[in-house]
Amino acid sequence: MAQEYDLIVIGTGPGGYVCAIRAAQLGLKVAVIERRATYGGTCLNIGCIPSKALLYASEAFEQAGHGLAAMGIEVAPKLDLGKMLAFKDRGVKGNVDGVAYLLRKNKIATHHGTARILGAGKVDVTPSIGEAQRLQAKHIVIATGSDVAKLPGVDIDEVAIVSSTGALTLEKPPRRLLVIGAGVIGLELGSVWRRLGSEVLVVDILDRILPGVDGETARMMQRILMKQGMNFKLSSKVTGIAKNAAGRKVAIAPVAGGAEASIDADVVLVAIGRVPYTQGLGLEAAGIAIDNGKRVLVDERYQTSVSGIYAIGDVIAGPMLAHKAEEEGVAIAEILAGQAGHVNYEVIPNVVYTSPELASVGKSEEELKAAGVAYRVGKFPFTANPRAKVNNTTEGYVKILANGATDRILGVHIIAAQASEMIAEAAVIMEFGGSAEDLGRTCHPHPTLTEAVKEAALAVDQRAINI
Ligand SMILES: Cc1cc2nc3c(=O)[nH]c(=O)nc-3n(C[C@H](O)[C@H](O)[C@H](O)COP(=O)(O)OP(=O)(O)OC[C@H]3O[C@@H](n4cnc5c(N)ncnc54)[C@H](O)[C@@H]3O)c2cc1C
Repeated sequence: MAQEYDLIVIGTGPGGYVCAIRAAQLGLKVAVIERRATYGGTCLNIGCIPSKALLYASEAFEQAGHGLAAMGIEVAPKLDLGKMLAFKDRGVKGNVDGVAYLLRKNKIATHHGTARILGAGKVDVTPSIGEAQRLQAKHIVIATGSDVAKLPGVDIDEVAIVSSTGALTLEKPPRRLLVIGAGVIGLELGSVWRRLGSEVLVVDILDRILPGVDGETARMMQRILMKQGMNFKLSSKVTGIAKNAAGRKVAIAPVAGGAEASIDADVVLVAIGRVPYTQGLGLEAAGIAIDNGKRVLVDERYQTSVSGIYAIGDVIAGPMLAHKAEEEGVAIAEILAGQAGHVNYEVIPNVVYTSPELASVGKSEEELKAAGVAYRVGKFPFTANPRAKVNNTTEGYVKILANGATDRILGVHIIAAQASEMIAEAAVIMEFGGSAEDLGRTCHPHPTLTEAVKEAALAVDQRAINI
């Protein structure tokens, strides 16, 4: 007899496990299916969490070597990479165990194995050892996430040519690390290994870093990273990677044409993006439509082309971010429970966890110009912020874009030591449709970096105080 549920969620990443918990809170009988040994998906196992652990630890190493002496703390740091990786692994374990606990607490049935959808309401789960089991449910949510995008002709062996997954477990800092892709993952993991001693070159086909991020803000970030010693080769295309005695020889051609360069690297990190993961799910046989980017097609209520089957997270369109997947998980659970689940895609923050961090929410100047929206800009640099001055973290700024007619905040872009923590206030005010004046008239604690947000809001009306 097949087991029957109200809802089966396939995948326990931030989309899937959050969806399962919210549905259970709302009284649904829920099961999750996960093919990995641990819960939490890409984010907790091989993505957000381990990368942030290494960013945190490598930042501490760099601070100990270069930042502390100015405060009168003399240390000579010595890298024990094995221990640093173990620190990362403990952080991952704490998080994935936390999800296992939450699934138990919410009485969610758990099945380990690869799910294959047979049609509306029917899923087979094949464990790594043993027989497939048939499950049935009124609703199925696909939350199978994404996988590393491959570069044609380049074999990722996770030793000399690595994806983000291999870059989280290198046995020693490579002498020369060549990163293909100047997006978030390339810059974050490039920063980790640069801080630990690697010479890092980032190659990108575009003429800029961080596509999609406000142009002025991305250019500022590139200057900061270059000052730290990260090298860039933009408007350049990797055309091949060959083995040589020293490691790998990477052929790079200028996009505009001209002579190819050949660059030696000990390790090459391929960080050109991610693609939806639907392998083995049986989408075609079940009649579930995908687009030409292999994303599962859904309507505004996350329903696929098959009634009763839904999809959320990295496997559908939109920014591939954990918190976007989580919001969609909550929304679909509420929709299935008869409530009005909804995600505001205008207010999805985006963070690059370099040092300083870059965080943004809403529109960039380029997007506003393209849409023909009149806007005013307010900027405030951290060189004029008392807390940043005293902490010697004066790189970066806050930039606020407000509607030229209504003053409503349309976009906020921050480069700061703790931009990831600061962006949430911008998201809240945007969610409530607030104006630059609202933000500028809100009392902020002194001395904090957040005062720069208030000052940038005042600067929209040319009335910042401390500059
Ligand atoms: C190095 C790196 C760093 C990142 N850093 C950040 C960050 O700082 N902030 C951020 O917001 N995002 C970050 N991301 C992106 C983030 O990890 C993803 O956006 C997020 O994990 C997507 O969640 P999801 O639930 O859609 O899918 P996933 O987290 O990918 O989870 C999908 C799950 O489904 C399971 N699965 C797949 N197919 C099947 C099947 N047939 N049967 C059973 N189970 C299946 C998989 O095993 C997986 O556990 C990072 C990604 C990487 C790679």
